[in-house]
Amino acid sequence: MKLLSACCGHIGVDTGLLEGGGIRGELRRVPSMCFVIEHPEGLVVWDTSMHPCVCTDPIGYWGKLATTVTVPDYEESETLLARLEQAGIEASRIRFIINSHLHNDHCGMNRFFPKATVLARRSEYEHATGLMDTGKHGYVRDDFFGDGQSLELIEYDDSFDVFGDGALVLISTVGHTPGHQSLQVTFPSGRRFVMTGDALYTAGQLAARKPPGLTFDKKEAQASADRLADLGEEGATILIHHEPSLWETRPAVTLLWEEGAAGAA
Ligand SMILES: [Zn+2]
Repeated sequence: MKLLSACCGHIGVDTGLLEGGGIRGELRRVPSMCFVIEHPEGLVVWDTSMHPCVCTDPIGYWGKLATTVTVPDYEESETLLARLEQAGIEASRIRFIINSHLHNDHCGMNRFFPKATVLARRSEYEHATGLMDTGKHGYVRDDFFGDGQSLELIEYDDSFDVFGDGALVLISTVGHTPGHQSLQVTFPSGRRFVMTGDALYTAGQLAARKPPGLTFDKKEAQASADRLADLGEEGATILIHHEPSLWETRPAVTLLWEEGAAGAA
């Protein structure tokens, strides 16, 4: 089994969205991360970052948000397809795509993997489809809706074991959005990683058990931040997608962990 990270562009995000307290008009440049897990049952992509149209026409694709509170800094050489090529992984080999949630910086390339099945959490999908044409909430119709992708909706309350062997477990971390989830990856040796999605935005929030600034339900978001902090205290490495300090020192494509069935590599 392997776990790789791929930095797929950056976004200037209003610090009020990241930390709370309302829009401040001050942007912080944060990475937009994707992850690839090689499991004996197949390759899984966790989050797909931004649609390639965002490279050339961000306002046309994202609307006004692209000039105000989420300003992309994204080039074609940084898309998930480009990163997979750099990693020597054929996109046609991807079996499943799973998203932490359906905001426009997490699922923009879902439909560029026609051979993969998108496993979408029903509660997130239904919420997102209701808002995808508003231009305001960070959900974009072409990212996740309609033809051109094979979609499978999944429903669960607390957690969902993707392959039934405990290696990839989706953990409900609602609050940032109604169907938000995080992914726990456990290797045969017991080494564990949790990819937070946007249930936490910063390392400071993990340390202080604070929810992200942007929430749909603050109480639920607080419970999710606590859950992730608990997992960290139990020994899991918590990987926060938009925390610059985690990713700026690593190459754009990084092998985070690799292990055979016999134990640590
Ligand atoms: Zn989000």
